[in-house]
Amino acid sequence: MGELIVVPTPIGNLEDITLRAIRMLKEADLIYSEDTRVTKRLLNHLEIAGKQIVAFHAHNEHKQLERCVQTVKENTLTVLVSDAGTPAISDPGFLLVRACVEENLPVSCLPGPTAFVPALVGSGFPCDRFIYEGFLPHKKGRQTKWLSIKDEERTVVFYESPHRILKALEECVELLGPEREVCVAREISKLFEEFKRGTAAEVLAYYKAKPPKGEIVLMIKGK
Ligand code: SAM
Repeated sequence: MGELIVVPTPIGNLEDITLRAIRMLKEADLIYSEDTRVTKRLLNHLEIAGKQIVAFHAHNEHKQLERCVQTVKENTLTVLVSDAGTPAISDPGFLLVRACVEENLPVSCLPGPTAFVPALVGSGFPCDRFIYEGFLPHKKGRQTKWLSIKDEERTVVFYESPHRILKALEECVELLGPEREVCVAREISKLFEEFKRGTAAEVLAYYKAKPPKGEIVLMIKGK
């Protein structure tokens, strides 16, 4: 019986890939990938050639699902990767993992890079209990989401884009209060890595003066 291995890949620094992840990529009969060009670049860097790489992304994952499960059965080792970090964490993957589990196929996910863990730990906020909220809804349900975390005692983790972080911080000031402590973790593991900690008002003022670039994790300290 074939198995599915979910393989996390670096979120910035190419050194952040485990020996086991490299071995799985080498041994894979088939690699499902969110973006085949991104995966090819990684494989080139790792000097892994001749792999069958098939697109598996948000736009085709529903349609592909049945065929993917079939190929997991037919092959010995099928690997799933996303562009960066751990598949299924705000990335495609959940549907395939669930479908394989339902078919009683062996599934495992290797331990490896994901942005919210270094962000949360580096924030200095309590991380014994936390909630991961992924991306804020763009429009509908956004205010409700903010209000649902207003009295949250655990640290709340959001993924955010540089274009929307100012809006998110403004809403945080307005709906959770200017004194709520936040941390913006930017460009983790990359050249311009930055952790900006302070009250929501302070961090908003900082990024208004210096609009942020790159990838961002926003943490809100529990009440
Ligand atoms: N699967 C990924 C993971 O395991 O973290 C997340 C994919 S999600 C599409 C991309 C988001 O993750 C970015 O918008 C950003 O919020 C966060 N992210 C990814 N890499 C990051 C980095 N190097 N620094 C900060 N945030 C990052």
